[in-house]
Amino acid sequence: MKLLKWYADEGRDLPWRRTKDPYKILISEIMLQQTQVDRVIPKYETWLKTFPSWKTLAAGSRSDVLKLWSGLGYNNRAVRLHALSKLVVEELGGKLPVSEEELVKLPGIGPYTAGALMAFAHNKPGKCIDVNIERIVKRYSFPKRKKEITKKEAEEEFLFLFPKNKATDFANALMDFGSMICTASNPKCDDCPLYDDCKSRGERNEESNERVKKRQTTFLHSNRWWRGQILKALNQGLQTEKDIFAAIEGDDKKSFTAALAQLRAEGLLSGSRRISIRE
Ligand code: SF4
Repeated sequence: MKLLKWYADEGRDLPWRRTKDPYKILISEIMLQQTQVDRVIPKYETWLKTFPSWKTLAAGSRSDVLKLWSGLGYNNRAVRLHALSKLVVEELGGKLPVSEEELVKLPGIGPYTAGALMAFAHNKPGKCIDVNIERIVKRYSFPKRKKEITKKEAEEEFLFLFPKNKATDFANALMDFGSMICTASNPKCDDCPLYDDCKSRGERNEESNERVKKRQTTFLHSNRWWRGQILKALNQGLQTEKDIFAAIEGDDKKSFTAALAQLRAEGLLSGSRRISIRE
C-alpha cells in the first residue's frame, strides 16, 4: 500500500509509537488531546518514569499526579486518568477492555480514544477519525462531493480502507500524512504518494489557480493597474498623454484619464504637454 510505504520512509518516530502497552498509549492519547506533540514528548517520558503502570498511578496521590501533569493544562484530564487507574486496578483486574464498545463505557474514554487504543495497542481498525483523517478520507475517496459527505460516511470509508494486520501503521501514517502532505490548506498534491488514486487530486491546485486567475482579472484594468501602467510608460521615456495611452494595452480612455489626473493631484507628475515623474 502506497501510504504505508510513504510512512515507512517519512513517518515520525514518536515515543508512544514504540509501544503496544494500552496504558502507555492511553497516557499519550490523553496528553495529546489538547497539547502539541513536542510539548507532550518530555512530559510523557517523565510521567512513565514515575507512573509506569496502572498500579503505580493508582497508588499515587492526586497532588503528585497534578504536579507531574503541570504544564500540560486542562488538569481535569489528569484527575480523570487518576480515577480511571483506580477503577482499572480495583475493578478490571489491571487491564483495559479490548473493544471499542467496552472502552467507551469507561470514564474519560470517548469514541476517538477508544478507536485509537484499538488501532495503536491492538493493531485493529478503530474509529480514531479526527478532523485531519476525516479530511483526507473525504478528499481521497469522494470526488468533488466532499462537502456533502457526512462524518459517518467518512468513518465507514475509513474503516473500509484499514489494511488487514496493519491498522497501527495505517492510523499513524494518516496522522503524519495529514500534517505533512494532505494538509488543510494547500495540500501538496504534486508530492503526494496517493496522487494516482486520489479522487480529488489537483483539485485544490485548480481551486487555487482559479483564485489567482480571479485576482489577476480583478486587478487587470483596475485603477491601480492604470496607475502602474502610466508610471511604467513614463519610466520608459514616453512623455505625451497620447504616446502613453497608446503604449498601454487597454482602451478605456476614461480610466486612463482618471488615473493620470489622480497621479497629478498627488503631486507625483509634473508638466502638462510633456509629462514626467516628479523628482
Ligand atoms: S492528491 Fe492531494 S488531495 Fe489527494 S490525498 Fe494527495 S494531497 Fe490529498
